Amino acid sequence: MLLRAPFSLLFAAAIVLAASQQRQTISLILTGGIVVTMDPSGRVLSPGAVAIDGRNIAAIDTPEAIAARYSSQTVIDTTGQVVMPGLINTHTHAPMVLYRGLADDLVLMDWLQKYIFPAEAKTVTPDFVRAGTRLAALEMIESGTTTYADMYYFEEEIARVTRDAGLRGVLGQTIIQFPVADAKTPQEGLARTESFIKEFATDDLIVPAVAPHSMYTLDSGTLKAARALADRAHVPVLIHLSETSDEMKTSTEAHKASPAAYLESLGFWGPRTIAAHGVWLSPADMTILARHHVAVSHNPESNMKLASGAARVSDMQRTGIVVSLGTDGAASNNDLDMFEAMRQAAFLAKLETRDPRALPARKALEMATLDGARALGLENLIGSLEPGKRADVIAVSMTAARQTPMYDPLSHLVYVTRGDDVRTTIVNGRILMRDRKVVTLDEGRVLSEARALAEKVKAAVR
Ligand SMILES: [Zn+2]
Repeated sequence: MLLRAPFSLLFAAAIVLAASQQRQTISLILTGGIVVTMDPSGRVLSPGAVAIDGRNIAAIDTPEAIAARYSSQTVIDTTGQVVMPGLINTHTHAPMVLYRGLADDLVLMDWLQKYIFPAEAKTVTPDFVRAGTRLAALEMIESGTTTYADMYYFEEEIARVTRDAGLRGVLGQTIIQFPVADAKTPQEGLARTESFIKEFATDDLIVPAVAPHSMYTLDSGTLKAARALADRAHVPVLIHLSETSDEMKTSTEAHKASPAAYLESLGFWGPRTIAAHGVWLSPADMTILARHHVAVSHNPESNMKLASGAARVSDMQRTGIVVSLGTDGAASNNDLDMFEAMRQAAFLAKLETRDPRALPARKALEMATLDGARALGLENLIGSLEPGKRADVIAVSMTAARQTPMYDPLSHLVYVTRGDDVRTTIVNGRILMRDRKVVTLDEGRVLSEARALAEKVKAAVR
């Protein structure tokens, strides 16, 4: 019997060794939180764990099951938090954070023509755009946005800063009829867009796009050329559409057609196109957009602040349009917090339809995640937590007084959570913020740089 003890010990050790050899070593594990996957089945694991290997999600399961299959040097305990897909902001102008609070409480055309366009004419430079994008990126990482769609000038600078900050972006170089900081003519804008697309065509995080500003700031030739360029380069198109009643009036007078119908007559619409706003779409306009698989980015806060109107989100969704969510630029919001965008979208839809069942929490959350991915044509990569998709993941604290008690995490994510509740932000498997500490940007430097540039902005509109 003397031999038996050492033998069984050896046997036990062998089993342990075999088990640890079977455990796959991966780059990152988040474990212990409530995992809201937003996958098509709506799976929620409580508690759950997410295993991340490189840039992809390897598995989602119970903490025990993940611990049995995987090991990692980096394990983040997400107890008391919700782990969910990163939020997708489908309409903004990142550097405009530098105009935050510069001019409020004005109608759109006064706001644009008396403040924003003059300020842009005097202040927009590559330096300004870089500093603004760093500030926007800091705010987005801090508030759980992992992908954003942008329309601005010097978009190649925005792309470089976005990539360095670690965010994912569908970034559109703006084309506009009048002379702007980065192009004297729309032809120059188109040429600039073409070289921008070439530079970022194969980037892992950046999808370059064409961004003709709107039907009211461009002639038909330039609109057609922008569409042709997007088709040639196989890239998305971003445009403003039917934001105000003025735009409707202008279009009807000039073209005897709504903006959506006019753009259809030019052959402008096509897939992978995002029309921002869509506040004044008629049922016929909605049918046009649905027919061409055009997505609409709804921006409830900007629409309310500029009193543009209430987009008919439920009608658009019923017509078959993918409706995603955006903040718009910070000059008309005045922040980039997508949690607030979800909440305001839900409230505005209920008010507009006089029906509290309109836009429930789950749908608002879907608009900020999976529908955002669909709108951008990235639904195979992002928008939900599923094995094989990119690891764009956030962990959100759920222990504040205002979040207690919690019966339903989906309700809390939309109705009581704020951007500041985000603890951890991960994009493409890389940790951008851990325990509220952003690791890809120097916060102090970003803020002081922005404050210094604000002096130039003040002088420009004086
Ligand atoms: Zn906009």
